[in-house]
Parts: sequence; structure tokens; C-alpha cells
Amino acid sequence: MTEDVLSMRGVTRDYAVGGSFRKKRTLRALRGIDLAVARGRTLGLVGESGCGKSTLAKILLGVENPSAGTVLVGGKPIETYDRLERARLIQPVFQDPYSSLNPRMTVERIIGAPLKVRGEGNAASQRARVQEIAGEVGLPHHLVEAYPSQLSGGQRQRVAIARALIGKPEILICDEPTSALDVSVQSQILNLLHRLKRELNLTMILISHNLAVVNHLADEVAVMYLGQIVEHGASEAIFERAHHPYSNALLKAVLPPRAGSRLPELGLQADFPSPLNPPSGCAFHPRCPKNDGTLCVRVDPPAAGGSHVYRCHHPDHMSDADMRVLEPSR
Ligand code: ADP
Ligand code: MG
Repeated sequence: MTEDVLSMRGVTRDYAVGGSFRKKRTLRALRGIDLAVARGRTLGLVGESGCGKSTLAKILLGVENPSAGTVLVGGKPIETYDRLERARLIQPVFQDPYSSLNPRMTVERIIGAPLKVRGEGNAASQRARVQEIAGEVGLPHHLVEAYPSQLSGGQRQRVAIARALIGKPEILICDEPTSALDVSVQSQILNLLHRLKRELNLTMILISHNLAVVNHLADEVAVMYLGQIVEHGASEAIFERAHHPYSNALLKAVLPPRAGSRLPELGLQADFPSPLNPPSGCAFHPRCPKNDGTLCVRVDPPAAGGSHVYRCHHPDHMSDADMRVLEPSR
């Protein structure tokens, strides 16, 4: 048995939105998330903008608290760690490497900051470690003297990755790490993450609205829709035989990838629903080609399947015979 280094049980996150106190409404950004990631594995988390990916990331990073449910890191509740302990274990890499890097600091100071905060070693050893990690992420030596504005987008993201890794974390949470980069640079950064995860045995969550981005990196894929995980399985299983019609819509959208396209064109009829007013039954039913007009509209499908979990009354790639076996007795 491999140990789950990260897990979530029934995690819900509500935000109060709207003007005055009386008009406040509840926006449920996450709805009962169950998720576990084993050590050394990479989980790709995909779904359209607004489905709750960043909220999930913030909860794993401890910068937001769940409204309900539990988060375990290394088997212990996340709230039992203080900020420094958490930062030692879990580090983020964000989408926009420019706004996440202090423009007034040199690359050397940015990358070395975590060592300084913790008082690890002296100035000379810190500098040596910065040079070492800069080399590992493929930053030319002379650039450690540069400022973020003098770097390309890809170089900035390498700086952000170096800063995340310098304290030897076990877990890396990458939230859309390549979405702000040119297509040609995206694959370089993904290759870098791929190499680092193997060399450092990192446990990684790779968040993207684009399934193609997680394709080569993720051992398993979780597909999110309106605050829920609607399908979760091994990458091969998802890419070869996705069960949820939404996963299949996402898969169709990413092939072939078009340069410059940010958000996938899903070819689905309706728009992404508002989490302030979620559809009844299966949240995907208004857009789903398999909507039966009755069960789908009334009943939120429970999680089914074993190691390949899905929430759908009429999963794709299942014969009628398969369906009869699965049909609950009503
Ligand atoms: P994603 O990263 O998948 O695009 P987010 O997690 O950022 O999605 O957002 C999920 C939902 O929660 C969205 O409807 C968003 O508007 C809402 N949301 C996120 N953060 C806040 C917040 N601080 N206050 C109110 N609503 C929020
Ligand atoms: Mg986001």
C-alpha cells in the first residue's frame, strides 16, 4: 500500500457573495470533494474556468479553509501544521510568473528567500544552493543577477519553480503553470516539471483547464465540474475510455490543440452554469447530450465505479448490458 500524502474528505467551500448583509447569497465553490493522492504521484485536475480548481488548490495550500470536510497532509489534519511547516511540505507554482515574483528583487534573492526566512545556512551556502537549483531548472548562471522584468515568460516560470523547490518540499501544487506562456514554451516547462517530479519523487497536483496539458505528466486525472469531481481515474483510463460525457467533451475540445487558444471550445449547448444557482439533479444535465429529462434532472448521480470513479447516470462507453447490471433497483 502506498501512503496517501494528500487527501480530502467531503471538502466543501462556501463563499458569501452579494452586497448588503440581507442580500448575501452562498456560492458553493466546492461541493463535497473526495480526493487522495499517493506519494510520488501526479494528479491532473482539469475543468473549465470557474469550476473550483484554484479554490481546491488554495485549500491544499492552507491559504483558504474548507467550510466543511477534512484535509490531511502526510496523514495529519492540515490545520495542525503552522505556516512554516506547511511551506516546507507544500509549495505552489502559479499561472502568472510575473505577478508572483517581486519586481524589485534579483533572481538570486527571489529564489533564495525561503532559505533566508528559515535561516538555513549562511549567505555563501545560500548563494551556492541558489546556483545549484538555478542549474537544475535550466536557468543560465548569469541570470541570477537579473530582475524579473529582464526575463522571458518561460524564464520567470523557471524562477518560480526554483523558488518553490529550494526548500525541498514533498508536494508541488501547480495552478495553470503554463497558461500564461507561449505554446512553444509551455512544453518546455511541462518537460521540466516532468523531469523534476521523477528526480525528486515529488507528489504533484497539476491544475489546468486543458486536458492536453496534463496528458503527459499526470499519472491520474480528476475532472471537475461545478465544484464536484465528476470523474477520476488513471490517465490511460481517462484518455482511452472516459465514462463521463463532460470528460469526453473536454477530450474532444483539446484535440487538436490550437495555438493561442486559451479556453477550450466545448461545443456544448448551454453555458457553464452559475454556482450561485446550480442546476438540479446532475449539475451537467443542461449541457449534456445524454440528458434523459427525468433521472438526470432529478437525481445527483452518486460516485460509482471502483478505482475509476464517475458520477453519471448514463456513462459513455458502456453497453446496455453493462448498464442493466449497474442500474440501481428503484
Ligand atoms: P477555477 O480556478 O476553476 O477557475 P475558482 O476556484 O477560482 O475556479 O472559482 C470557483 C468559483 O468560486 C467561481 O464561481 C468563483 O467566482 C468563486 N470564487 C472563488 N474565489 C472567491 C471568493 N474569494 N469570493 C467569492 N467567490 C469566489
Ligand atoms: Mg483558477
